Amino acid sequence: MSNEILDPIVISEQQFEKASLYIDHLQKGLVDFLKLPKRIYAVNFPIELDDGSVKSFSGYRVVHNGVFGPGKGGIRYHPDVTEQEVVSLAKLMTWKCALVNLPFGGAKGGVICNPKELTVNELRRITRRFTSEIFDVIGPHIDIPAPDMYTDEQTMAWIYDTYDVLNPGENNRPVVTGKPIDLGGSYGRKEATGQGCVYVTERFLSKSLIPELPELAGACVVIQGFGNVGSVAADLFARQGAKIVGLSDSSGGIYAEAGLNLDAVIAFKREHGSLLGMPGTLSVTNEELIEIDCDILVPAAISNQIHANNAGNVKARLIVEAANNPTTPQADEILRQKGIYVIPDIIANAGGVTVSYYEWVQNQANEQWDIEEVNTKLRKKMYGCMDAVFKRWQAFVVGEEKAVDTATGEQRESPDFRTVALLMAIERVANATLMRGIWP
Ligand code: NAD
Repeated sequence: MSNEILDPIVISEQQFEKASLYIDHLQKGLVDFLKLPKRIYAVNFPIELDDGSVKSFSGYRVVHNGVFGPGKGGIRYHPDVTEQEVVSLAKLMTWKCALVNLPFGGAKGGVICNPKELTVNELRRITRRFTSEIFDVIGPHIDIPAPDMYTDEQTMAWIYDTYDVLNPGENNRPVVTGKPIDLGGSYGRKEATGQGCVYVTERFLSKSLIPELPELAGACVVIQGFGNVGSVAADLFARQGAKIVGLSDSSGGIYAEAGLNLDAVIAFKREHGSLLGMPGTLSVTNEELIEIDCDILVPAAISNQIHANNAGNVKARLIVEAANNPTTPQADEILRQKGIYVIPDIIANAGGVTVSYYEWVQNQANEQWDIEEVNTKLRKKMYGCMDAVFKRWQAFVVGEEKAVDTATGEQRESPDFRTVALLMAIERVANATLMRGIWP
């Protein structure tokens, strides 16, 4: 058993260092500076629970980099939220926004709480109080939150309302994205991360890197996580003719070789609160789900699900990272040796922040685009991003672009897609930092 370090900060450092090896033309001090968060805001606040008792909660809002514009990133409610995790997720947002060319910097937030043990009224009080605590550091042109794990459009409506009450007389709609449609949300935002994930997957497959898997039609897909992202991705993959053979939620997974009927899965989950025990399926653990024989594995739940101890057993030909940080650095190396491609999170789930950007633009112009307009723009953006990363990856593969180890003079092996995407994003942020004169 490997003793791999699963600390999100360590992992994002390792990924950053790996990408930095390929951009050693940039000044070392500048690259080191780009690793640091711009601002960490930590708050503690008490909430009265429904039984009359009072409990203290801790929350964070972090802006990692603002060189391209205001901070942008989700707020998650989860018992495992830590400051380090929020910092590393904010950093990921910086690279994601830079890669997709959005005028935002990276940010993230979180409250340490267990939404499964809280009532709607308690969640509303937590959200309102957390928003008033971070009121000073968010705003339509400062830092713009969005949904993440266990937060949704209702959470965004509460944040918007609280901010609007504290800042009257302004168009405050662009302070958060992922709002309900009637409060200025964008058509397609709820589905955007899953939709973007499907767009980048079909574009990737069209490159014929996996000759036996030229398109989504007929592909066997396993998805870990059946929340906002996983359920939408499952539906859209199925609409493209893919067969969803495995699905899971936090209590475990289900498998059916012949393919799952998604309407029946949704109805079963609604009735029983879990996927486990659905008739006509085999129950599997979340660990077993990762190792199911399939073409495409989509982790759409939490981080570190594909790691040094199970990557060797992954049978999928392609991993599409709908979740943030689902694959560890050691797993990346094992997958690479096995010839399994990974579409990294900063591309695969960038659809969410892209349509968040469209929502922000619509809110400022007081417009509402229809779903066709949103999805046409999103597809173009996702295809363009996948094409750009693929082109740069290929430049390394064919030797047009070389990376030499300055210490030994040896040529480095060509980078994987995560490293290429990351190095492109870091280059963009570094160049903007130099152009703005932030780095003297
Ligand atoms: P969600 O809360 O709607 O769904 C999370 C899903 O993961 C649920 O089905 C839950 O049961 C499952 N889950 C929780 N713990 C698990 C565990 N230990 N093992 C297996 N499954 C588990 O969240 P979401 O919005 O769908 O986000 C999922 C992932 O996608 C997260 O990593 C998030 O950061 C990332 N992401 C989300 C968005 C977005 O727009 N919602 C955008 C970018 C990235």
